[in-house]
Amino acid sequence: MIAQAKSEALGALVSLLYPPVCTICGANIRSGQYLCAQCESKAVRIVAPFCQKCTEPFQGAITNTFTCANCAHRTIHFDAAVAAYRGRGLVREIIHRFKYGRQIYLRHLVAHWLRAALDDERLRDRRFDVIVPVPLHSTRQRERGFNQASLLAELLSPEISVPSKPLLERIRHTTTQTALDRAERMKNLHNAFRLRKRVNVRDLRVLLVDDVLTTGSTLSECARVLKRAGAISVHAATAARA
Ligand SMILES: [Zn+2]
Ligand SMILES: [Zn+2]
Repeated sequence: MIAQAKSEALGALVSLLYPPVCTICGANIRSGQYLCAQCESKAVRIVAPFCQKCTEPFQGAITNTFTCANCAHRTIHFDAAVAAYRGRGLVREIIHRFKYGRQIYLRHLVAHWLRAALDDERLRDRRFDVIVPVPLHSTRQRERGFNQASLLAELLSPEISVPSKPLLERIRHTTTQTALDRAERMKNLHNAFRLRKRVNVRDLRVLLVDDVLTTGSTLSECARVLKRAGAISVHAATAARA
């Protein structure tokens, strides 16, 4: 509590010396925020109806809970994968700058979108024992200099009081997934992940974290490994859904 009071006092001092500005346009904003109202309005929220399993949005007015065609026709190993924002426009641009443009400070804004996913009713009242970032292959991580999922997990961890641990490793340097269809993605990912040595996930409730959810194949493959090793449940949260 004392530490928290100190960090709040420090935060107040910092915002006095450096008034907070919008990450995108530089307009003045209130402390604790990242975007001005105008830029914030350009980040597209995912609104119902969407697939309860993978958060794929649907057109039209379906009111009952349902799963999408993608989830109905394949084995999905996570319990639910949740994103609050569409990975388009401004959100896509920011995540891209964070990941590939080495603008690491943007992690705070991306983590802000990730936190919004935790307010979803599928995650809101759940307790998790551990946050597990989706790993990058070591070669890719060396090239990039960081794993974006780990940076996000580390920001989330103190806020929800759940430790973040890199329990998984990526052992296959998979070719880029972008050009592949769903079946090819699954095949490409098979055995791409494994549990790190001397890691025990038995009876743990896991929250997987990544920056973007595309088809859910990566998250599903990570969940498969975790559940096979004894995890009770595996939910996933991402900053955006492509
Ligand atoms: Zn702005
Ligand atoms: Zn789905």
